[in-house]
Amino acid sequence: MEILKKLAQFAETDRTAIVYGGQTLSYRELNDRSDAFAAYLKQAAPDSKAPVLIYGHKELEIPACMFGSLKAGRGYVPVDVTYPSERVTQIAVEAKPCVIVDLTDTLELPHLAPSQLQKILTQPCAPASEDGWLKPDGTAYILFTSGSTGTPKGVQITAGNLAAFHAGVRPFFDGMQPGGAFLNEISYSFDVSVCALYEALGRGMTLWTADRTALENPKLLFEILEQANLTDWVSTPSLAELCVQSDRFCGALMPRLRQLLFCGEVLTKKLAQALTERFPGVPIVNAYGPTETTVLVTGAQMTKEMLQADAPLPIGYAFSNCEARICGADGNALAPGEAGELCLLGATVSPGYLGRPDLNARAFFEDGGRRGYRTGDLCRMEDGLIYYLGRLDNQIKLNGFRVELEDVENNLAKVSNIARAAVLAEMQDGKAVALTAYVMLEKPDGEGSLQRARRIKKELSALVPSYMVPRRIIAVDSFPLNTNGKIDKKQLRALRAT
Ligand code: AMP
Repeated sequence: MEILKKLAQFAETDRTAIVYGGQTLSYRELNDRSDAFAAYLKQAAPDSKAPVLIYGHKELEIPACMFGSLKAGRGYVPVDVTYPSERVTQIAVEAKPCVIVDLTDTLELPHLAPSQLQKILTQPCAPASEDGWLKPDGTAYILFTSGSTGTPKGVQITAGNLAAFHAGVRPFFDGMQPGGAFLNEISYSFDVSVCALYEALGRGMTLWTADRTALENPKLLFEILEQANLTDWVSTPSLAELCVQSDRFCGALMPRLRQLLFCGEVLTKKLAQALTERFPGVPIVNAYGPTETTVLVTGAQMTKEMLQADAPLPIGYAFSNCEARICGADGNALAPGEAGELCLLGATVSPGYLGRPDLNARAFFEDGGRRGYRTGDLCRMEDGLIYYLGRLDNQIKLNGFRVELEDVENNLAKVSNIARAAVLAEMQDGKAVALTAYVMLEKPDGEGSLQRARRIKKELSALVPSYMVPRRIIAVDSFPLNTNGKIDKKQLRALRAT
C-alpha cells in the first residue's frame, strides 16, 4: 500500500505528522508505532484476518493502530466515542474483530486499554515485512453508517478501492506539498478523514487536530487555526458556516491557504460567495461521494459563472476513473439533463455491506465487469457536470452526519413507553438543521413534556450516537396514516405547521 511506503519514506525525516493539543507525533514515531502494533497483532492473533476495532476519538494512538493493522495484513473499524456502548456492541457483533482497542477504557467488551496500548506501541521492533501488508483485495476499513433498520451497516473498503480513490482525487490534492498543514477535524469514523490520513500524510504534510471540544468552542478552534497556518482545507460546509460567523475567518488567518474543498453535504451559494470574499483568489471546490464509493468521486472548482447562475452549485464532474450515470426507476440511463438517481461505476465502489446480502442486492450491481452503486441521490447531469437535487429516501445530512430517519425511529421504538415514533428533519434554506421526534405513548405517563423529553433523550442516547438524538420530542395522541397504514409524514409536517 502506497501510504505505508510513504510513511516509511517520511520517517527518514524529522517532520511532524500529527499535532494534537500540546502533543506532537513525528513521522518516525508514527511509522515505528505502526510497526510495533503490527508485530503485536501478528503475535496476538496470528491466524486471523479479522479487523481491529478502534474505539476512540482523535487520539494520537489511533493512526498508528490503523496503519499497524494494514501492516499486519488486516483492516480496521474506527468507531467514534459519540457511539454509545450498545451501538459499539452491535458493530462488534457484525465485524467480529480480532482485537478491540478502547481508548476510553469504558467498553464492557474485552479490549486493550490505553496503558496496555502505550506499552505495545513503544516496543522496539523490526519494520513489518512488506509481504505481510494488506493486499489490494483485502478490506482496509469498515465504516458503520446509519442503517434504516435501526442497526448500523458496515461499508467495506478495500486497499484497491483506496488506491483508486487516490488516483481519482489527484487533480485536487496533487498541489499538497511536504511541509504543508492540513486540518484534521473529521472523526475517524467518517470517511472524509481518509483525506487527512492517506492523502495529506501520504504527501508529508502535518495534520493539525481539532477534536470535538474544539469544534464546539470557536475560541479553541481559532487558536488551532492560528497556530496551524493551514495550506489545505477539507471540511463539511457546516464547519465553514460556523467559522464564517467570525470576522477572523479570512485570508489573514490562513495566508498560505491553497484551496478550500467542501464535501459531505450541500454547499450553498451564500457560503461559497462569503468564502470568495473572505479568501480572495483561493479556489473553492465542491466535491461529492458516498462512503460506499470511497470518500469522493466527483468534484469541480466553483467558477464565477456557477456562483452567478440560477441553478444550485454543481457537485462537479465524475473523477476520471468513475462513471456517473443518471438512471430512471427501471435502472436505465436517462437522457442528458433529466433528473434521476445517480449511479456510480468504477474501481472505487465497495465490495458491499458486511454480512448484508439483502442490502447489497439493492444498492450494488455489476455492469460489464465493473461494480456499480445506486446512491439514492436525485441528480441531473449536463455536459458531464452533475447537480445534486436531493435524496430519494429518508437519509439526511445533519451538520455533516449521515442519518437515516428510520434509524432514529426504530431506536425510539425501543425506548420505554413509546408505541410508535416518527422523526422529521427541520429544514432551513433547504438544509436539515435539527430533528424533531413525534411519539405516541403506550400509556399515559403523567410526566410533563419537558420531563418526558429529557427521559426519552436519555434513554435514546444509550442506543444511538449523540448527533442522532432529536432536539425536540413531541407527544401526539395519534398519527395521520396513509393508505398503507404507514405514518403520513407530509401530513404530519403540515399538521405541525398549523
Ligand atoms: P457519506 O456516506 O456520509 O459521505 O454521505 C454521502 C451522502 O452525502 C451522499 O449520498 C449525498 O447525499 C451527501 N453528499 C455528499 N457530498 C455532497 C455534496 N457535495 N452536496 C450535496 N450532498 C452531498
